[in-house]
Amino acid sequence: MSGTLLEVRDLSVVFDGFRAIDGVDFTVEQGELRFLIGPNGAGKTTLIDVITGLTRPASGSVRFEGWDLVGRKEHEIVRMGVGRTFQTSVVFEQLTVVENLDLAASFRRPLWSLARRRRGVSAAVEAAMATTGLDALAARPAGVLSHGQRQWLEIGMLIAQRPRLLLLDEPVAGMSGEERSRTGELLVEIAKDHTVIVIEHDMDFLRRYASQVTVLHEGKVLVEGSVDQVRSDPRVQEVYLGR
Ligand code: ADP
Repeated sequence: MSGTLLEVRDLSVVFDGFRAIDGVDFTVEQGELRFLIGPNGAGKTTLIDVITGLTRPASGSVRFEGWDLVGRKEHEIVRMGVGRTFQTSVVFEQLTVVENLDLAASFRRPLWSLARRRRGVSAAVEAAMATTGLDALAARPAGVLSHGQRQWLEIGMLIAQRPRLLLLDEPVAGMSGEERSRTGELLVEIAKDHTVIVIEHDMDFLRRYASQVTVLHEGKVLVEGSVDQVRSDPRVQEVYLGR
């Protein structure tokens, strides 16, 4: 995979006169695992909200595979291949793991194919289970899963929808050390077949799993580069690491 998948140009978002995003350029290539970091209020979630159609920008463009996303409805953007998780989990607790995955997969499928689906789970669901390692938990209700397992299920639900771009908002928040490592390995695995943008704060986590990092600060791109470049940049140390 190569070429530009997402191209954000001169983007600004204004809330009641306050510029939450202020002239941001942000380009992500096919197959990248990009981390988006920055202090609270930097504009990370707002940027993802614009890409996914939740927030309309005051100006600027968002191109995904060359198509302008600005002004499109959220569900249209999902159908175009952009999937997203939120900080709060959205799994259906009474349904089993495999039912959750199946439901997510069916959102991108025409109704006539649902009857056929009864004969067994689709290839997309099989693939989502294999990637997330949820096979062993397939028959468990999602309500009994640990916090980490729920996050993996939610990522699996996204994968089952076969997106080309995944946007993950702090997927390791609240996870144990072991769960964080598993999630990091999962992100690397997913990035083999997808383009992934992850909002994450933890520098140790970034050091282990990130390749390219974009640092936002006060609605602007402060620095962009490899983890080492970003960590050693004095501007980042000042605003982000607090040194
Ligand atoms: P981050 O995700 O980096 O913590 P956000 O994108 O959530 O930052 O927020 C960026 C800024 O925009 C913050 O100052 C926040 O208070 C403000 N903001 C975000 N959403 C809204 C909104 N719906 N209305 C008004 N201000 C908002």
